[in-house]
Amino acid sequence: MPFDAYERPIQYLRVSVTDRCNLRCVYCMPEEGVPQLAHEDVLRNEEIVRIVRIAVGLGFHHIRLTGGEPLVRRGIVDLVANLARLPGLDDLSMTTNGILLREYAVPLARAGLHRVNISLDTLRPERFRQMTRWGDLEDVLAGREAALAAGLRPVKVNMVVIRGLNDDEVVDMARLTLEPDWHIRFIEVMPLGAGVHWVGDGVVPSVEIRERIEAALGPLTPVYGEVGVGPARYYQLPKAKGTIGFISAITEHFCQYCNRLRLTSDGQLLPCLLSSATIDLRTPLRNGATDEELRALFLQAVVAKPRGHTLSEIACPSALPMSHIGG
Ligand code: SAM
Ligand code: SF4
Repeated sequence: MPFDAYERPIQYLRVSVTDRCNLRCVYCMPEEGVPQLAHEDVLRNEEIVRIVRIAVGLGFHHIRLTGGEPLVRRGIVDLVANLARLPGLDDLSMTTNGILLREYAVPLARAGLHRVNISLDTLRPERFRQMTRWGDLEDVLAGREAALAAGLRPVKVNMVVIRGLNDDEVVDMARLTLEPDWHIRFIEVMPLGAGVHWVGDGVVPSVEIRERIEAALGPLTPVYGEVGVGPARYYQLPKAKGTIGFISAITEHFCQYCNRLRLTSDGQLLPCLLSSATIDLRTPLRNGATDEELRALFLQAVVAKPRGHTLSEIACPSALPMSHIGG
């Protein structure tokens, strides 16, 4: 596996398979959506498979499909099936809003997807509609059940916490982990949504969420070991079956543990979520680059990873909206 200039092992690739979405979460996109990529600019299935094959060959053993909403991409099940066949790929996962999972869970599992993370910011139907602008909470809950039944485990639920909007639900969410199969991760909202300017005031530091949970439900005990490949820190409530994770991009830098690159749906490699630097893979790919040349571009992106970011100090650092980058 490749190491970057700061001796971090880089082994995790997040692949955005589309910039389109069937929701408009208030912290991610404006109601009218964001300007969409032209169809011909989006990587085709065989192009994604080739890039991922090269990445896996370099030692990227964890691949996560994201978006936009990955399940609105046509041919997503075929894409998963072709990726799942790549030798050396240990972990193939997806981050989804869950709206279409009821329909897709079984085909995805059959195609070889290992597990899903589902974004769910509230357990209240009215609020869900408000936060996603038109989504139906029932669809996500049914999608989660379908994913579990299909064996796409563990199913982790991601909750972006925003002060004054849904932070009064953190204890209710945490309580769910007392039941089997509920794993909740609390995410500090980042100033990366397109046309979203208010998030700074909305950040609820992870330490505050943790205090609220402990005051209501008891002490959290750290969980060590292979709970995930991302930046979350994991804990458990007394007698809980599930885990509680915190992803604190704003208040606790985890850059020293960063192990990832990102690929946008139009074939740009991003060394860092918060840097506007990109490395274009699509043009050389379509101009007949050899595998060796594409491998060299990957390694260039690994070397280009900055030591860290200063997200708490800047208003809107990225040139690309979150729905293009894939979270
Ligand atoms: N549409 C899928 C979904 O929502 O799960 C995948 C793409 S979405 C961009 C990936 C993740 O980014 C989701 O968990 C979402 O909650 C998170 N996200 C989007 N905007 C964010 C923001 N401004 N701050 C923190 N997380 C954000
Ligand atoms: Fe769509 Fe995911 Fe962004 Fe929500 S967070 S608007 S579901 S891409």
